[in-house]
Amino acid sequence: MSAGNTAVKQRVRDSRVQALPHPWSAWLTVSSDPDNTRFPDWQELDRVLWKELGLPFSDSAFVRSYNVQLPDQVDLHGHPEILGSHLHDTMHTWGDFMFAGTRGFDRSDAEAHLKVMEQLRFSPRVWVDHSMFIGNLLHTHKFGGIPEFKDASGYTYANQHYTLDLIRKAGVRYFWDGTITSVLGQDRELSLRQYHLERTGSGRRGTLDWMKHKVGDTFGLGKAFRDQFQGNQAYRVHQFLDGSHGYVFPRYGRWELADIQGLGVLLAPDKMERLVAHGGVCIAYTHLGKRKAGHENDPAHIPAATRRSLEHVAGLHREGKLMLSSLGRLLDYLVLRDHIVINGTSITFQADGLAFNAVGARELAGHSFTIKGTVPQGIEVLGSGGPVSHNILRHGDRAFTLQFPEA
Ligand SMILES: [Zn+2]
Repeated sequence: MSAGNTAVKQRVRDSRVQALPHPWSAWLTVSSDPDNTRFPDWQELDRVLWKELGLPFSDSAFVRSYNVQLPDQVDLHGHPEILGSHLHDTMHTWGDFMFAGTRGFDRSDAEAHLKVMEQLRFSPRVWVDHSMFIGNLLHTHKFGGIPEFKDASGYTYANQHYTLDLIRKAGVRYFWDGTITSVLGQDRELSLRQYHLERTGSGRRGTLDWMKHKVGDTFGLGKAFRDQFQGNQAYRVHQFLDGSHGYVFPRYGRWELADIQGLGVLLAPDKMERLVAHGGVCIAYTHLGKRKAGHENDPAHIPAATRRSLEHVAGLHREGKLMLSSLGRLLDYLVLRDHIVINGTSITFQADGLAFNAVGARELAGHSFTIKGTVPQGIEVLGSGGPVSHNILRHGDRAFTLQFPEA
């Protein structure tokens, strides 16, 4: 784990490595927060998304919910068995400590919940901030990443809400950056103008923002305005307030579409066809277990329109157009891809030091990477500790794919 003051640079993909592995032109995953999920609705989601449609998405969980406004909210305390039904790779903070009456939160709760997680063998790869939780890292405030406070007289106090070290101990390597982007498809080149056009969805507003941004860049003005826009990367290196570095990622969506009704709009067939046509990766933001107000008494949790969108997504996957995976798997792929070093006949998968301290058969299992050109004579495929067994799939003279067998 690299932390402290060492500079950690964002790595950029070698241009000989294709953005996505053959045959995919785009990659979709879902990042769903467990807020408001009632158990019967959870059962319907598990049955439809994971069993009937076979979508390989991952899910998130609250270790325990203390929210008195949502007494039926699913958590691992009441339903530890959910971990065995489909993959959960995201912790939605340490639990739901919002609207918890007189119950507060401090570091000792994180320590206790970390033990519970170890007992349940729940080792999430991703952390997502929740609402206005006092231990959040990036969304609405940053108290979870500040180890100590200093008062005006010069006294230093340990921050009882600091848990970033424990979050990493739980297994987390990726953090939601607290933002939602309306640009469909990250990890693809966009000019500044195109970025603003796609972000606003309006020719007039997009052009105005682009001009404002350009003028600001030229004359060093409007830094706050320009700082809102982090570019179109799928993930980036971030330095937290304790000095440590980690990977953060934005999510795609709109705040008002982050429920089971909105998901059908977010993943509507025309949008997913556009994602496939333009390429890129998409981390769709939703709350699978939350219904839009007014739908509390609907007999079914998943509306027909959302089901149609999901069926269409499953169809695009079957046709070899849209890659689908868990959230952690997509982020792992991007980091591994961006740390490939090609030198003569050797292709080396380097450990990046933040997500991976070593890269070998275990870390590469199930992944594939497509490299442009023909297979070099005497090709050597290396992890951080030496040769790694792999298969090679040739695509004529254009490219070849390295496939690593499932563990
Ligand atoms: Zn939440």
